[in-house]
Order: sequence, then structure tokens, then C-alpha cells
Amino acid sequence: MITSRSIVKLTSKSLNQGLHFQKCQAHVGWIGLGFMGTPMANHLINKCNSLVVYDINSAAVEQFKAKECDRVFTMVPADPYVIEVFSGSNGLLTKAKKGTILMDCSTVHPNTSKKLLQLSNDAGVDFLDTPVAGAVPAANAGTLTFMCGGKAHLVKKVESLLLCMGRRVIHCGDTGAGSAAKICNNMMLAISMIGTSETLALAQGLGIDLKMMTEILNISSGRTWCSDTYNPVPGIMENVPSARDYKPGFKVELIAKDLGISQSCASLTDAPTPMGALALSIYKAMTNNGHGERYFSYAYQFLLKKVAGGVRKS
Ligand code: NAD
Repeated sequence: MITSRSIVKLTSKSLNQGLHFQKCQAHVGWIGLGFMGTPMANHLINKCNSLVVYDINSAAVEQFKAKECDRVFTMVPADPYVIEVFSGSNGLLTKAKKGTILMDCSTVHPNTSKKLLQLSNDAGVDFLDTPVAGAVPAANAGTLTFMCGGKAHLVKKVESLLLCMGRRVIHCGDTGAGSAAKICNNMMLAISMIGTSETLALAQGLGIDLKMMTEILNISSGRTWCSDTYNPVPGIMENVPSARDYKPGFKVELIAKDLGISQSCASLTDAPTPMGALALSIYKAMTNNGHGERYFSYAYQFLLKKVAGGVRKS
């Protein structure tokens, strides 16, 4: 088990034996050991010949031996972080050798993925955008879905590696298509968490028992992932963020970042996304009120406090 926020070099020799799969022969690097990166890297430790990991919180970039790796993943918070990791003065691209495939699993703007491709190709290495669907539990269970953008033959080359951490690998199209698919999914998720939260807040106002209301939603057309898997109301489900004082996982500031990207994509493509815009204003208001570090299902509590669009109504 690796600990988050540390630099370590791990090889299969230090791992538990008796594994029932073929070890991956690639030398793999991992950058960004947060809520998602840590469990994903842990799957690779068991299944790869060697893994080098790095997180900014610990030591100097110099200790990250990228030159030894031919497959490198990044899983960092947002666009400027990935750009810095790639092209900063000590960045990946100053060290990566020819034949290396860089894969960015972070949720970023499709145009950022295109920029990363350009930077990578200029440095003589390959790039794929490989963001993931599935939250921390799916990362822990190794059941993520990878949405890949880039050349089909590269996706084929890394498929078995991705399947060490996930269950499905979908080639969405050219560079940026993986990031585009991810951002569409997250806009839906963000809106749906607010929809579920306000529905349950209304039910509460009407004096309906919320466990019963959830049961009704979950067998009816109102059912969503937010109602049946990550319910935002404390006391309805066990082992979800609402049962743990909304500790992250997936932070409000990350969903607000994703909605900022979806709104930018909407303006670039003239797509009508009024609910996305409204959802963004609500998650932004949550961040501005000091809730950016909470799990995003805190939307329920925030709406109960009648704070919407940054304006406190009472
Ligand atoms: P996190 O904040 O927990 O982790 C990010 C990690 O990156 C931190 O440990 C940070 O120290 C490290 N980091 C930042 N800059 C770095 C640098 N220059 N070099 C090395 N390390 C650096 O975030 P997370 O929840 O793990 O999310 C990571 C990405 O995955 C985000 O883009 C997020 O939108 C996306 N995502 C998150 C979830 C989720 O449920 N949390 C699900 C799917 C996708």
C-alpha cells in the first residue's frame, strides 16, 4: 500500500506474491496521489513490473525518474496543474524518452488535451487523454471506465494497462474526445445532484419521510445515481459522504471546475446549457461560502440553508 503525498519507488519484488495475472512489462510513472490517484496507483503496484510515483506535496521533481518510465499517468486537480507537470521547467517533457506514452486521467478542457498532445508531439512522445468515469469507490474497486481520446493504435497499446485499474476502455475519438465525453457526463452529474437535493428538500418541506421518498424515487422515473447510490441526505444510506459529514472524495471545487469547463465548451459550440449554467452558479456559491472542500452532495445542506446563486434569501 502506498501512502498519499509521498515519493516512492516500488517494484514487484516488494509486493505480495501469489498474483494470478500476467505482470505488465511497461515501466510506469504516476503523478498525483490524491483521492483518485492513490487507489489507481495501488492497483498498478500489484500488476506492473515497476511503478514510480510522485506528488508535489512531498519532495523535488528531480526525484521523479520519468526517464525510466515508458508509460506515465497524470491525475492532478485541474488544467494549469497538468500543463505545469508536462511543460514546467522540470516537467515531464524535459525528461520523457521517445516511445513514451503520456496519459492524462485528470478532468480537463478538451482544448487542454489538444494542447498537451501538441506539446508531447513537439517533444517526440505520444499522448492520450484518458479521464475516468466512476468515483473513489470505483477507483478502489478497480472498476473505472476510461474514456480515451487519441490515436486508436495507442489506445490498443495501453488497453491492458488501463484494465489494471478499470473495467472498460472506450475509444471516444481524436485527442480531446475523452475529455469532452467526461465533461458531458459531469455536467449531467452536477445537475442531477442538485435536482435530487432540491426534490428531497421539497419532500421534507411537505412532511414526507425522506427514506420513503428515496425508496419511491428509486423505483420510479425520478431515480438517479444521486438518489440510489450517493444519496445526499444523512441517514438514508450508509458508507456514503452524506453519512460522513460530506468528507471528500469528489469536492465541490472540482465539480465547479468541471462545470466551468462545460460552460466554456457550450459557448465554443453554441450548445444550449441553461441548467449547467445554473448548477455552476450554485456550486460556485457553495465554494464562496467556504464549502469547496466538502463532498459535492453537500448541495442538499446548502439548498436547505436557502442559499442559491450566491444570494442568501433568509
Ligand atoms: P485531489 O486533490 O485529491 O488530488 C490531486 C493530487 O495532485 C494531490 O495529491 C496534489 O498534491 C497532486 N498535485 C497537484 N499538483 C501536482 C504537481 N505539479 N505534481 C504532482 N502532484 C501534484 O483530487 P482527486 O479527487 O484525486 O481528483 C484528481 C482529478 O481527477 C481531478 O481532475 C478530478 O476532477 C478528477 N476526478 C475526480 C474524481 C473523484 O471522485 N474525486 C472522479 C473522477 C475524476
